[in-house]
Amino acid sequence: MDDASARLEDVRARIARAAKTAGRDPAGVTLIAVSKTQGADAIAPLIAAGQRVFGENRVQEAAEKWPQLRAAHPDVRLHLIGRLQSNKADEAVALFDAIHSVDRPSLVAALAKAMDKAGRRTDCFLQVNIGDEPQKGGCAVADLPALIEAARTAGLPVAGLMCLPPADVEPAPYFALMAKLARRHGVAGLSMGMSADYETAVAIGATHVRVGTALFGARD
Ligand SMILES: *Cc1c(COP(=O)(O)O)cnc(C)c1O
Repeated sequence: MDDASARLEDVRARIARAAKTAGRDPAGVTLIAVSKTQGADAIAPLIAAGQRVFGENRVQEAAEKWPQLRAAHPDVRLHLIGRLQSNKADEAVALFDAIHSVDRPSLVAALAKAMDKAGRRTDCFLQVNIGDEPQKGGCAVADLPALIEAARTAGLPVAGLMCLPPADVEPAPYFALMAKLARRHGVAGLSMGMSADYETAVAIGATHVRVGTALFGARD
C-alpha cells in the first residue's frame, strides 16, 4: 500500500472509532482532505485511493490546480476553507461546492448575488471566531445570530458553522461551544477539527473535519 492510501485508511479508521465511541454513525462525518500547497502529483494518489472531497484555502490556487484534476474525476467535490474577498465571490461560486468562510454581511450579499447570477446554490458554512482572536477570520460569537439571519434571508444554504480554535490550547471547550451554537440556531453542520484534533472534534459533533498534514505529510 502506498503512503497516500495508508494515511487515508488510518485517518478514516480514527474518524470511525471516534464516531462510534460517541454513539454516532461514522457516515455522518465528511473527511475534507486539505490539499493547499500540494501539487497534482500529491493529490492524484489520494483520489486514486478513493478520497473525493478536498479543501483549498485560496481561490486562485484552486483555479489553477483543480480544473484538470476534476476533468478526470467529475465526482470530486471542492470546499473553500480560507478567507474569501467579496470581489472573488463569482469565481468561488463557479469553482467550489461549499464555502466554509462566510463571516460578514457584505460577503453574504456578494455570495447571494453571485449564486443568483450563476443559477447555482453553494453550501455555506458561517465561520465563527470562536477564540476571539484579532488575526483570525470569522464573526464574533455575539454577531452570529445576525449573520445567520442575514444568510437565511439572502437565500444562502446555511449548511453549518465553521471554526479554527486557538492554537496550542485544548480545543474541546471551543468545539463544545460551537456545538451549542449550532444547536441553538438550528444549524445541522459543524466544520471543525484538523490533523491535531479531528478525533476530539468528531467526539463533540463535527460533521466535517478538515485534515491536511495527516494525509499529505508536512507542508513546505
Ligand atoms: C490548513 C488548514 C487546515 C488543515 O490543517 P492541518 O493541520 O494540516 O490538518 C484546516 N483548516 C483550515 C482552515 C486550514 O487553513
